[in-house]
Amino acid sequence: MNKAFTFTQNIQSNRYIATCCDTSLSAQSRRSFLQAVGGSVLFTSVGMLATGSAVAASGNYEAMVLSCIDPRFQDLVNKQQASEGMSGKYSAFTIAGASIGVVAPAFKEWHKTFWENLGASVQLHNIKKVVVVNHRDCGAAKIAYGDAKVANAAVETVTHKEALMEFRKQLKEKHPNLGVELRLMSLDGKIEQFA
Ligand SMILES: [Zn+2]
Repeated sequence: MNKAFTFTQNIQSNRYIATCCDTSLSAQSRRSFLQAVGGSVLFTSVGMLATGSAVAASGNYEAMVLSCIDPRFQDLVNKQQASEGMSGKYSAFTIAGASIGVVAPAFKEWHKTFWENLGASVQLHNIKKVVVVNHRDCGAAKIAYGDAKVANAAVETVTHKEALMEFRKQLKEKHPNLGVELRLMSLDGKIEQFA
């Protein structure tokens, strides 16, 4: 019995790891992951992966979700992700305005922090895409662009769409291999998707 096979059995007996390495991974990528961690893997009683190498706290996850700090949307965003089968499969970055916090000149001090965190999640979690969830009635959009840019639903849509497209442009420059989903959420949780 080789090490990889032993490790696979360990994975299947461990709920936490089984979630992170679910069947959406191809057999090849699962094999690569097993080879990367080699034989130095230990499991703690709470199901955490611990190794003596740089792969500690790493794994294979689906996405980073970028959303706004607005309290009204935390539960909505989580429920939306759960409805797509994404529970436990994404890292999260929450910043005022979501994509607006990452691209608007008014918030330029924040931009580097986001990109560095995304870089960390790419490295640690092997994410495949960024799911961006802007939302309607966003206070950060008003701060960044002024009341006139969110004066009615049509104008508000254009304002968010522009920020989302700018986000996609910058993402493609920095991480050309990452996918992206660009969303605008309403107060009732409804989603408009731009990409
Ligand atoms: Zn907001």
